[in-house]
Amino acid sequence: MNPLVASVASVPTLAKLANANVAEMHAYTPGEQPQGAGWIKLNTNENPYPPSPRVVAALKKEIGKDGGRLRLYPNPTSSALREALAKLHGVPADWILAGNGSDDVLNLLMRVFAGPGRPAGMTTPSYSLYPVLAKLQNADLIEAPFEKDFRLDVARIASCGANIFFLTSPNAPSGAGFATRDIARLARIFSGILVVDEAYAPFANENAAELPKKFPRVVLARSFSKAYSLAGVRVGYAVAQPEIIALLDRARDSYNLDRLAQAAALAAIKDLAYYDGTIARVVKTRTAFLRKARSLGWFAHPSQANFVLVEPATARGETGPAVAESLFNYLKSRKILVRYFGKHPLTRAALRVSIGTDEEMAALAAALDSWLKPAPPR
Ligand code: PMP
Repeated sequence: MNPLVASVASVPTLAKLANANVAEMHAYTPGEQPQGAGWIKLNTNENPYPPSPRVVAALKKEIGKDGGRLRLYPNPTSSALREALAKLHGVPADWILAGNGSDDVLNLLMRVFAGPGRPAGMTTPSYSLYPVLAKLQNADLIEAPFEKDFRLDVARIASCGANIFFLTSPNAPSGAGFATRDIARLARIFSGILVVDEAYAPFANENAAELPKKFPRVVLARSFSKAYSLAGVRVGYAVAQPEIIALLDRARDSYNLDRLAQAAALAAIKDLAYYDGTIARVVKTRTAFLRKARSLGWFAHPSQANFVLVEPATARGETGPAVAESLFNYLKSRKILVRYFGKHPLTRAALRVSIGTDEEMAALAAALDSWLKPAPPR
């Protein structure tokens, strides 16, 4: 018998040996990372600009001439990075935890604060990793659904009964920003751990960075993947009161950030002028794309992030899931990748477009115009 067929056939038996929560769950599905050249990637909210030149220099230095330093384990606590981040946030170093991407931070939070009898909560729709992490901990998931306007429903979240609540702010995939005073109002009355997932906050008008100083149960989760252009090296961090950080430190991998990640992140935060410049470019392009979408008569959610959720309409004004999906496929056929979330009622008539360079957005605009052009008469 074909050995591949035999091994596939034995999977159900092997799955019986696994923990039931894992055996029955689905893995997180990341956005497509196409191989090969020529793609315009507007699907996973990466930064279209390279990181600061100082990052490249720091990486070269860290590798050295013969790569000899790679023999050695990295600093286990990422102490220099923690100290630099602490300075940036105006807190002592024991208020910071560095993670292998902010996904690592979110995972640690779930491992420490969710489990059987300790439900996790999230708004829906938001980051689809949270349910996967909750399931891995065998924790129930409590959903606080958004209305169509993606307004923050403080009372609903505060009374949802979660032991830990994940608030993506600005929200993904809508891009909706939340007022810090509303998050503070929530922090005051919610009795569990409130994680403010600020992966996209550097692109927003305001953020909740000060809240962990005022509210002991608030944890800020930040990412180097978007605003610092470092999705490829995997760095994120948490800001919270030391008691929380100490708990997270117990659960993390002993060397959760490799040498190169630590060196890259440290160099990136030493070049804040570059960081500010990149953010300003993305925000400017975001404004231009919103204008373009609205000039086509499309509904576009206001965005405080580096992406925009638009509801496309055909030249005849038709909207809906079939229209969104057909535009998604049309763009893909032209090697332009955006994201389609077809499962949720609030997103299934829409496409999420990450903000690219001005050239990439011009190519997108041209493709949208040609999709809208009526077919020539036969
Ligand atoms: N939070 C949200 C809301 C995200 O969209 C993402 C990226 N997909 C992350 C966290 C994870 O970011 P990182 O690359 O730092 O793990």
